[in-house]
Amino acid sequence: CGIIGIVGKGDVAQRLVDGLRRLEYRGYDSAGIATLDNGKIERLRAEGKLINLDERLKKAPVRGPIGIGHTRWATHGGPTERNAHPHATERVAVVHNGIIENYAALKAELEQHQCRFETETDTEVVAHLVDHHLKQGMDPITAANAAFDRLEGAYALAVIFANENNLMVGVRQGTPLAVGYGDGEMYVASDSYALAPLTKKICFLEDGDRIRVNAGGVTIYNRDGKELSRPIRITAQSG
Ligand code: GLU
Repeated sequence: CGIIGIVGKGDVAQRLVDGLRRLEYRGYDSAGIATLDNGKIERLRAEGKLINLDERLKKAPVRGPIGIGHTRWATHGGPTERNAHPHATERVAVVHNGIIENYAALKAELEQHQCRFETETDTEVVAHLVDHHLKQGMDPITAANAAFDRLEGAYALAVIFANENNLMVGVRQGTPLAVGYGDGEMYVASDSYALAPLTKKICFLEDGDRIRVNAGGVTIYNRDGKELSRPIRITAQSG
């Protein structure tokens, strides 16, 4: 199971899949990506090996300069295409590693607000929770943070928003997440190995860290919104 994200230039889809290939060693049962094509969330997901996802991408390329990718190790809901990440609404797309312990309570609450769930995963509540806050009129960063405040369990999350080509929000709580610094691009991933072909400048997040990323850099802060500084390391890993 692993996460990759790129806030970048040009089309990022193929680089997301290439990054996922470097996360294969962690084990997975399905995979997927989401990008913003002219601001609209486009998803491509497939059961089984990454070659299935790669073939779909080659047949029907998804475009866009920002995106997230995921290899899934199913904990809640079978390893089907429908349950594969990213999970999304019209407004938001989410990848998640870990377990949302209180998903059943959150799901029940969201269903009262007419949210319709499409999967058996714990993760889908995160997409709907952020979406719910967006519909309430919150801006994307506030909406994501309000959702993160409600989550119990272990999670690394990366979130993108429709019509926001230059914003990714993330959090690390009990599951690893790192940020990579590129040349006019920024990356997130579960580990530095996934990012080695893209950059060697890596910042490893600590538990409780939240991030907002744009192509020019990252802001790291905690649950209370206080900004934090984390060292940037130059990794020796070879691309
Ligand atoms: N709990 C989530 C799921 O089953 C994420 C699993 C993972 O870490 O890949 O979809």
